[in-house]
Amino acid sequence: MDAVDYSLVDMSQQTTTLEKLELTGSPHERGVIHGEAFADEIASNVALYLEIFEYKGTDEKTVYEQVDEFIPLIEDENKEYAEEMKGIAEGSGLSLEEVTILNARYEVMYSAFKQAADELDEGLPDACTAFGIQPEISSTDHTYLGQNWDWMPGLETFVMDIKRDNKPNMVAMTEAGIVGGKIGFNEHGIGMTLNGLITEKDGEDPFNKPYHVRFREVLDARRMDEAIAPLISTPRACSANVIVAHEVGEMVNLEISPQSSNYIYPQNHLLTHANHVEDRSTMNSEFEKLIPDTLCRAPRLKRLLAQHEGDIDVDVLKNALQDHFGRPNSICRHPNEEDEKLDQLQTNGSYIMDLTEKCMFGTGQPPCTTEYAEFQLT
Ligand SMILES: [Zn+2]
Repeated sequence: MDAVDYSLVDMSQQTTTLEKLELTGSPHERGVIHGEAFADEIASNVALYLEIFEYKGTDEKTVYEQVDEFIPLIEDENKEYAEEMKGIAEGSGLSLEEVTILNARYEVMYSAFKQAADELDEGLPDACTAFGIQPEISSTDHTYLGQNWDWMPGLETFVMDIKRDNKPNMVAMTEAGIVGGKIGFNEHGIGMTLNGLITEKDGEDPFNKPYHVRFREVLDARRMDEAIAPLISTPRACSANVIVAHEVGEMVNLEISPQSSNYIYPQNHLLTHANHVEDRSTMNSEFEKLIPDTLCRAPRLKRLLAQHEGDIDVDVLKNALQDHFGRPNSICRHPNEEDEKLDQLQTNGSYIMDLTEKCMFGTGQPPCTTEYAEFQLT
């Protein structure tokens, strides 16, 4: 029997370029620049999230009631973040409430899922496959970090290039309208990735510091301990998986649920993670009941990369992230036509960070359909 080629590349689809926007000045000024540049995209994202919340059983009125609590909560937790949100609202012509829907979207979403179903079997957060590479197994002696980010088709994203006087300069992918950044790194060589997790207490108490505020605080850090603290120091509304890494090669994978945290370190200088909890000692794991492919994606990526131990570079990482084993529910994920539209997931972006060179390679589409663009921190 012929071997199946799971890496078939379909270049016939569109090649949308991932845009970069430089954000400078005060937090408010940065927000205005963001809002003016992506007004239509932010409005589109608000509409898409309201649609999915409604689909999961949470109407607009309930969403806005939650948002009214998140506005002062974010102000208390991180004043600069709140100022940047206000700038986005001003620049885009949307209300602060609409912008807050995006910035607290994890917390609102998990709460919606919880209300829709006690067993959390109705909703899907971001489903992704992430990796960390220590310099010992790269061909370049560099530290790499990255992921495929799998989420709803149609969501608008871009890359922020933030220049600041009082905090580190940073490069990070974000959803249009969200201050935080999600997958990115800063001038001190600190980077982060993000995967969705589901554990049993998610959504019970949504009113905690939103994850996107925490992500910005990770990217504000000068040292690893400062980057880890915002993720684990205070209770959370829901669960997530974050790899935090430093350019010298130190890295830790944090599995975090509302009340507990697990710490996983590289084995053979390699970390991979998808959407199920690997360390069940402090939390259960629910996501694999919804998308069993998570159980295959992390070990698959680990195997694809381990084959190149000592030779890993950006091209090896690009090839691994284009893998189609189990398509459409593959590392390079494509919408499953059998699913309802609002249940569909695809790789909405593929990101490889060279923390040593302080640059990111990224796509705004499945990586098999478009070339990676390069974003250098300057
Ligand atoms: Zn693909």
